[in-house]
Amino acid sequence: MDNSGKKIVVVGGGIVGLATAYQLGKFQPHAQITVLEKEPTVGCHQTGNNSGVLHAGLYYQPGSAKARLAVKGVQEMIRFCQENAIAHEICGKLVVATDESEIDRLNNLYERGQKNGLLGLRKLNLEQMREIEPHIQGIAGIHVPQEGIVDYKQVCRVIADKITESGGKIVTSARVLRLESLTGDSWRIETSIGEFEADILVNCAGLYCDRISELAGEKREMRIIPFRGEYYKIKPERQFLVKNLIYPVPDPKFPFLGVHFTRLVTGGIEAGPNAVLAWAREGYRKSQVNLGDLYDVFSYPGFWQLFRKYWRTGVEELVRSFSKELFCQSLQKLVPEIRPEDLEVGGAGVRAQAIAPNGELVQDFHFISRRGAVHVLNAPSPAATASLAIGEEIAHYIIANT
Ligand SMILES: Cc1cc2nc3c(=O)[nH]c(=O)nc-3n(C[C@H](O)[C@H](O)[C@H](O)COP(=O)(O)OP(=O)(O)OC[C@H]3O[C@@H](n4cnc5c(N)ncnc54)[C@H](O)[C@@H]3O)c2cc1C
Repeated sequence: MDNSGKKIVVVGGGIVGLATAYQLGKFQPHAQITVLEKEPTVGCHQTGNNSGVLHAGLYYQPGSAKARLAVKGVQEMIRFCQENAIAHEICGKLVVATDESEIDRLNNLYERGQKNGLLGLRKLNLEQMREIEPHIQGIAGIHVPQEGIVDYKQVCRVIADKITESGGKIVTSARVLRLESLTGDSWRIETSIGEFEADILVNCAGLYCDRISELAGEKREMRIIPFRGEYYKIKPERQFLVKNLIYPVPDPKFPFLGVHFTRLVTGGIEAGPNAVLAWAREGYRKSQVNLGDLYDVFSYPGFWQLFRKYWRTGVEELVRSFSKELFCQSLQKLVPEIRPEDLEVGGAGVRAQAIAPNGELVQDFHFISRRGAVHVLNAPSPAATASLAIGEEIAHYIIANT
């Protein structure tokens, strides 16, 4: 359908919002596209505080949106980085089983990866793993050669430049406060710096996506629960212990991958992230509390269902968050030579994880579409990797349906 001249407003200048605006601009060159971002720059939240890994699609349920969009998106992201001289490296990753109880899960991952079409996956024994990572410990592993590392902040800057070069607008320091659906199928958008109008609204507000959807008249059936992921940095003189990416076998009950080692494309090695309930949606430090955000968590029945099922894991994560020794013990399962004194406190990111009313951690990406609006309601990892494919899918949906 022809959206010539239509006003499309994307709420949120993280990588998903930017990639969506960019793809809309490519497929709808005459549309007037505006990205509204509440911060002074783009990519400040999940996108700017993640592990910087290009996930190739190993973990995801075959046939799910995550599997489809990660497998497609990683290729698009690599191509985009190559074409725009963005720092990245396809360095490969090892997923390591450290005891017998993990072998079945490791084999399941291998099968998932095969089904998702990953190339070059290899099952390795310890000797073979040590040819790749000489300091590793474990009883079996999978090598995933298609995975890599990238600087997602740089990706955001390049996408933002491309949006503006092709006539789109990125308006920063513009917090969306209210949305009014006007007769005649358009939106009045009240922000902290004035009013905007849109024919089509795209909600990519990350940690606030459920609240933006509510402002647009949706019922908040799913709720965003913020999970902080804390990192340590390995001191420079001990960085020889890790060459690239070393991951444990994740517990499939959770969407989090377990604390791992990640080489950063910008230099250095990080260990983490853990997953602890944050007391604020943008609570990057343990001390940050937002009473409204807390009310949102504790007043949601789905949270208590989740708590009933997994309170023990939650408490263990919380204790480990306060103990460098315990954090280090998790890392030592993969690299026994790492010591607490090798670790310096690093940064943190907060994941926007949607929880369903039955307490289920929503594993797959989740989008809803309405007349004149698309809401991205769950875009956790690997949404940075998959962002260009997510953006393309939303753009095609809008073109076909408006
Ligand atoms: C610790 C951690 C590690 C991760 N590691 C990886 C990884 O290695 N690889 C990978 O692919 N993915 C990873 N992820 C996931 C990935 O970072 C996210 O899936 C992705 O960044 C989501 O992008 P987004 O644009 O949806 O959200 P965000 O980047 O959070 O962007 C949302 C934007 O909306 C803006 N906003 C919110 N409310 C308003 C409002 N009212 N008005 C205007 N603007 C608003 C925010 O300021 C923000 O900039 C990780 C995430 C975390 C937290």
